[in-house]
Amino acid sequence: PSTLRENKVEVPDVKWEDIGGLEDTKRDLQEMVRYPIEHRGLFEKFGMEASRGVLFYGPPGCGKTLMAKAIANECGANFISVKGPELLNAYFGGSEANVRDLFDKARSASPCILFFDEMDSIARARGSGGGSSDTSDRVINQILSEIDGIGSGKTLFIIGATNRPDILDPGIMRPGRLDQLIYIPLPDYESRVSIFKANLRKSPVAEDITFDLLAEVTEGFSGADITEICQRAAKNAIRESITAEIERQRSVEAGELTQEEADALPDSV
Ligand code: ATP
Repeated sequence: PSTLRENKVEVPDVKWEDIGGLEDTKRDLQEMVRYPIEHRGLFEKFGMEASRGVLFYGPPGCGKTLMAKAIANECGANFISVKGPELLNAYFGGSEANVRDLFDKARSASPCILFFDEMDSIARARGSGGGSSDTSDRVINQILSEIDGIGSGKTLFIIGATNRPDILDPGIMRPGRLDQLIYIPLPDYESRVSIFKANLRKSPVAEDITFDLLAEVTEGFSGADITEICQRAAKNAIRESITAEIERQRSVEAGELTQEEADALPDSV
């Protein structure tokens, strides 16, 4: 059975507020993706071809997937995500059929964002040798012809993501394909402040913690690293609260405190 068939088709729940920083990218994407979906008539009036897709590149864990999901959410568009290696392995020898199925599925879910993660694993320069180059040549050729055949009737937008744009088949970036290359960098100071804020939006934060301090000590960290820090902090806080609660109950049962005194103690240690 194909793993591809199980790829979910849905409008993602990631919102712009969930993404810290990257304000310029958010604005550019809105124009590229939302305008053609919401104002198709204007594009026709001015004889403008809407962009078919973009390529995100940059270090891991900095928001490429998050961004692709948020733009789909913003447009109320469906979202299908495929990892490069999945396409190569889903059916032995049947990879082109896979690509065709995938695009069919995306077209019938239009408006739809089709997200290719780990693009470099399939779209290595053709004929560059290495690993399963024959299969990947056929898969990439099929993807290119599907992109060329999108036409203007359906609203299908392709986003590719890679950490290695340098090894990608240049054919993928030709005009009319994924012709905009968008760099998603490690977050700078201001972006780290916003990523911490986005992550801690729903958590109480200790009074002696400032977002400036957090951003200062996390130079060189990715968004994913910052998310991990926030999740660990939340787990620790939960653990401490539970320990404090148990200790309060013990004190009441041992007669060291009255229930009222115990209730008046702060939540965590
Ligand atoms: P990869 O190249 O490894 O696929 P990616 O760039 O697609 O990485 P994401 O999957 O978007 O990275 O990010 C991983 C996780 O890190 C997200 O689910 C989120 O929790 C956190 N994260 C990354 N960047 C940001 C950001 N700018 N704002 C908020 N959270 C972020």
